[in-house]
Amino acid sequence: MSERPLLMIPGPIEISDAVREAASGPPPGHLAPPVIAAFGQALRRMRDVWLSGPSSQPLIVSGSGTLAMDIAVFNALEPGDRALVVHTGYFSARMAEMLRRRSVEVTVVSAPFGEVPASAEVAAALARAAEAKLPFKAVFVTHVDTSTGVRADAETLVGLARNHGALSIVDGVCATAAERFDMAGWGADIYLTASQKAIGLPPGLALLVFSERALEARARLTHAPPLSMDLDAWLPIMRAYEAGQPSYFATPATPLIMALSVGLGEILADGKGMAARFALHERAARAMRAAWASLGLTLVPAREDITANTLSAIRYPDGVDVSAIPRILANGAIVAGGLDPENKAKYFRVGHMGYSATQPAHLLRTIRAVALGIGRSADDARTAERAAEAVLT
Ligand SMILES: *Cc1c(COP(=O)(O)O)cnc(C)c1O
Repeated sequence: MSERPLLMIPGPIEISDAVREAASGPPPGHLAPPVIAAFGQALRRMRDVWLSGPSSQPLIVSGSGTLAMDIAVFNALEPGDRALVVHTGYFSARMAEMLRRRSVEVTVVSAPFGEVPASAEVAAALARAAEAKLPFKAVFVTHVDTSTGVRADAETLVGLARNHGALSIVDGVCATAAERFDMAGWGADIYLTASQKAIGLPPGLALLVFSERALEARARLTHAPPLSMDLDAWLPIMRAYEAGQPSYFATPATPLIMALSVGLGEILADGKGMAARFALHERAARAMRAAWASLGLTLVPAREDITANTLSAIRYPDGVDVSAIPRILANGAIVAGGLDPENKAKYFRVGHMGYSATQPAHLLRTIRAVALGIGRSADDARTAERAAEAVLT
């Protein structure tokens, strides 16, 4: 295989040439006019991609998705608060652990592997807490749990939180800019991601948008967050850059800021808005699922309506195990193993978000690599590619 293998894990992902070019070259200083312009534009474009409305506050900080989760936890809650975590897998468990480290009292509503908790169960937990006069300050949802490929019904869960006067905090690290999310329309309070998932950048940026209610929650805290993740420290910086003025608190990742304005610009470029972007991912995912079905493969998510559009979590067929992953690589695509601690030997994961979702050739090459890597014939691979092509064209 002479061609470079495609990076088809659920982040980092393949990036466009324009994004790569924007991030390359000598790193500019954080006071350089092009960085100031890109920073302000990236903040404004985040509102458009998040659909978060003019009063929302975007935040761009160097770091990972995990840092973005901690920033949300530490700025919205403090010791003694109560939070409800809708558990759908590995990353929901991480969120619960972060809350416990903030000395927050955590209630978890969980579901079996490959399932999501019924919204009625979440509603019942909220109602019980209200009756006991021990209401939750926040509800945490993992939009797409990358460990299982399961998507939560974010719209319904955000609505439930709102009805109970709780903040809704949604981890969109494997969803933002790909799965339908209308931050202002639904009234969500924090929606967070990282640059290397569906945003389509190299890793290195934690990206969050806060509602006005979320900003007020930070203002009311009596236990300040650690300084490096404190909204109070970062807000003046974001506001300055958006107003075209540089300002320093901690050095931004300047090459990535340059890339972010370009990457978000690509997401918005066709002028058809986020609905078209979400539809693109839905179609790419449907194409991948048609290919998997043609190969007789089954998915981890229990039902189509809770199956993410950003990745496929595929059960190994009989006689195939984790040793297929290097064979898939040898056929041209890098895919990921399972991540759920108890079930990781049973499945593997294929990302199809961001730039690759816009490139049918990437999707078809990946289908072929998987088919051959799990020991199917070239004919079977071709049939699977055709099943996907039928959806894509
Ligand atoms: C990838 C991911 C994270 C963690 O992001 P890092 O950048 O690896 O820290 C958190 N939540 C979800 C849902 C993810 O997919």
